[in-house]
Amino acid sequence: MLRSLSIPARGTALIALGLLVLGASVLAGCSPQGESDPAANQAGAGLTAYFDATIIDGTGGPPITEGVLLVRDGRIERVGSADEVDVPEAAILVDLSGKFVMPGLIDTHVHVGGTLGLEGGHYSTENILRQLGLYARYGITTVNSLGDDQPEAIDVRDSQNTAALDRARIFVGGTVVTGDTAEEALAVVEENAAMGVDWIKFRVDDNLGTVPKMSPSVYQPVIERAHELGLPAAVHVYYLDDTKLLLESGIDFIAHSVRDAEFDEETIGLFAGRNACYSPTLTRELSTFVYEDTPDFFADPFFQAEVDDEIIAQLSDPERQQSVKENRAAQLYKEALPTASANLMALTNAGVRIAFGTDSGPPARFQGYFEHLELAMMADAGMTPAQILKSATIDAAACLGLDDVGTLEAGNWADFVVLGANPLEDILNTRTIEAVYIAGNRVSRR
Ligand SMILES: [Zn+2]
Repeated sequence: MLRSLSIPARGTALIALGLLVLGASVLAGCSPQGESDPAANQAGAGLTAYFDATIIDGTGGPPITEGVLLVRDGRIERVGSADEVDVPEAAILVDLSGKFVMPGLIDTHVHVGGTLGLEGGHYSTENILRQLGLYARYGITTVNSLGDDQPEAIDVRDSQNTAALDRARIFVGGTVVTGDTAEEALAVVEENAAMGVDWIKFRVDDNLGTVPKMSPSVYQPVIERAHELGLPAAVHVYYLDDTKLLLESGIDFIAHSVRDAEFDEETIGLFAGRNACYSPTLTRELSTFVYEDTPDFFADPFFQAEVDDEIIAQLSDPERQQSVKENRAAQLYKEALPTASANLMALTNAGVRIAFGTDSGPPARFQGYFEHLELAMMADAGMTPAQILKSATIDAAACLGLDDVGTLEAGNWADFVVLGANPLEDILNTRTIEAVYIAGNRVSRR
């Protein structure tokens, strides 16, 4: 016996999420076990039905009201309105009335595994897993680690293709490719490929005029070789002219904002022509200067929940704040931030794919919280909540070449976030997290 959920669900008093997990037969009116249809029970075995939520499925269509999400073996089996989706009798029910469900967020530019407290140099499997748990608790269910990754990260990535997963998924860039000659750089590409990376990453930047830049004669063979190996190429940039030449050279992913000049039509056209992705990392800029004072977010309980008081105290030290105020690079990055915001809007308005990215992970770029800060900065730059969510879900997944995360559609992993308020009304509502699920497993609190 298959039946629609809407009638019994509406008859049920609102019960807090997490308390109501019942067998469907209970809601069906306590019918004796003998009367149930064995075939229907078979169909419901191992199935969980999340019901009566407003579902934002990430495809850009209108939200599904009175939505039902069916999950089995870590993946979405069906999603739709209560009218469309029948729930087998034996399914486990989770009442999400009054809640909003969105796909787990995807950060396309992070660094995982090295930082502990405010220190680098702590790379280990344990630290990778700890950080992936932290991301997960903030609703970031997939991250792309673009640099300084070691074989431990490859092993962690290779163990995540399971319905038992309950931490963020990771994809890996390996060692940032460097070299004075093409030969030297290509040797690093080969080492990365042998390790099993998902990306080839390099830098074309002079760090505000302080170091030599990688030249096209070095990076063009790197891009070419990456593509021969079937790997996309990502680049750290700062300057518009470099970005233009990189796009002409076939780059797939611009991993930071262009900050020296505003985009021109020609460069915007190059993005479209290559279908290249652009990752703003506005919070990376923020992190360079924000600790010159005590940031407002130090008082935010959503931040405090995952950051030790000791770290907040260290970053609030007046001497440290003074050194940030006097730091030339910090002040130049601060001056350049409005250009980054304007460029984000120019590309957004042109329909270029914006790959949500923060560069979180290095010391004082707080994983999880900085993603939510980035969402807010994208809104401040002028993006609508729908545009921002698109960037952090379906577009981020596409920019990473992932086809089974980023949207809540049949066949995808059941990676989703339950919110108390509608993120399409105000992007800050992504902070009203009530539960996070990865492969259908509820992520436990700290
Ligand atoms: Zn980075």
